[in-house]
Amino acid sequence: MCGIFGIYNHLEASNHVYLGLYALQHRGQESAGIVSSDQKRLYHYRQMGLVSEIFSRDILKRLPGNSAIGHVRYSTTGSSELKNAQPFMVDYARGMMAIAHNGNLTNASLIRSELESKGSIFQSSMDTEVIVHLIARSKQKTFLERVIEALRQTEGAYSLLFLTETEMVAARDPLGFRPLVLGSLKDSPVVASESCAFDLIGATFIREIEPGEILLINGNGIKSFKPFPRKQPHQCIFEFIYFARPDSFLFNHNVYEIRKSFGVQLSEESPVRADMVVPIPDSGFPATLGYAARSRLPLELGLIRNHYVGRTFIEPEQRIRHFGVKIKLNPVKELLSGKKVAIVDDSIVRATTSRKIVKMLRHAGAKEVHVRISSPPIIDPCYFGIDTPKKSELIASAHPIEVIRQFIHATSLNYLSLEGLKKCVRGEEENFCYACFTGEYPYRFTAEY
Ligand code: AMP
Repeated sequence: MCGIFGIYNHLEASNHVYLGLYALQHRGQESAGIVSSDQKRLYHYRQMGLVSEIFSRDILKRLPGNSAIGHVRYSTTGSSELKNAQPFMVDYARGMMAIAHNGNLTNASLIRSELESKGSIFQSSMDTEVIVHLIARSKQKTFLERVIEALRQTEGAYSLLFLTETEMVAARDPLGFRPLVLGSLKDSPVVASESCAFDLIGATFIREIEPGEILLINGNGIKSFKPFPRKQPHQCIFEFIYFARPDSFLFNHNVYEIRKSFGVQLSEESPVRADMVVPIPDSGFPATLGYAARSRLPLELGLIRNHYVGRTFIEPEQRIRHFGVKIKLNPVKELLSGKKVAIVDDSIVRATTSRKIVKMLRHAGAKEVHVRISSPPIIDPCYFGIDTPKKSELIASAHPIEVIRQFIHATSLNYLSLEGLKKCVRGEEENFCYACFTGEYPYRFTAEY
């Protein structure tokens, strides 16, 4: 996962990237960085932590120029440390370049070993760095041609932004796993992982960058290239389920509406006899609205969230995560006591969260706790940029639903069916990747973790 944002030809480039990253903070909270260009050279700042903690006015002043790209990181490959923070910047034989990547390459280790055997020295453990080496080694004449040659050799998921002294390049892999959208702020092109970043800076949404499309943005305007053979898109359905912000438009839909439709569909498949429906804040909210409306049950905010705590799952250590649910959510006892409660969440991964929430609700006096999940069971890891754990840690990979129900102490447990999920994107269902629910990956590769 990760979020990227870039702006070309604007007097306040790095300030806008800062705001863009702020809006994309949900896509990664480990580190953030900005690289700017004043047409002569690139300037770089990256740090561990949240966007608001990292960038002060003084630091933004040290990022001059009229073009900039930025990145917020949630590590999928490469450990959580500063050397792996992005954008990644290098000074090579042909000048300077910076790269910001969202996604995961599935052949990075292979390329890296080959490059290392030829003498390349890597500075980080990120898959992204292989792209930089491939570009630096390319004999092609223009930066764009070098990028294309490098990307031809890579396999996997990438939504990318590159910045050189004079150009910005945006690219989305041929299967289009991760989103990437194009907008404009007056006459300045902007590119972001999600459209919610445009809203904050007052930019206009133009369109999504298409799978396999590369945009060259320079003094001559924006030029689109489609240098790769056309493939069936495999956009990540999990962006809809959990990851993207509900106010974003991506993969041809508003995320809120599609998420709500998952809840409606879930209610049709798995109705419940309950006194109320309670959302799991915040990610379960839109689906719960759909579920409650379709079920004609009252919607109650039975769990109150402390907004000053980040997304608990983000904390890489198990120990912190266990603590996390309690620190984040507290039940409204007076509302729940003696009641039959249905709760809706977007997904179960390890089942740590739902187990703790059910326990919390029972402690608060709920007589029955029915759990409804607005996605199918996750049975296989994602190799394309969503941080799902190893197969062995995915509870649904080895256990039937009834065993999971017992584990979380729920009165009943139902997931949205895969068919139901596809129904919500009817007509476009072929354009999505469902590998985490089916184990059917879009192509063969050697799993790298
Ligand atoms: P778990 O406790 O492991 O079952 O995690 C499930 C919870 O984590 C759900 O409430 C989801 O909203 C959230 N979640 C699901 N997938 C992810 C992910 N890849 N990263 C962060 N949180 C997630």
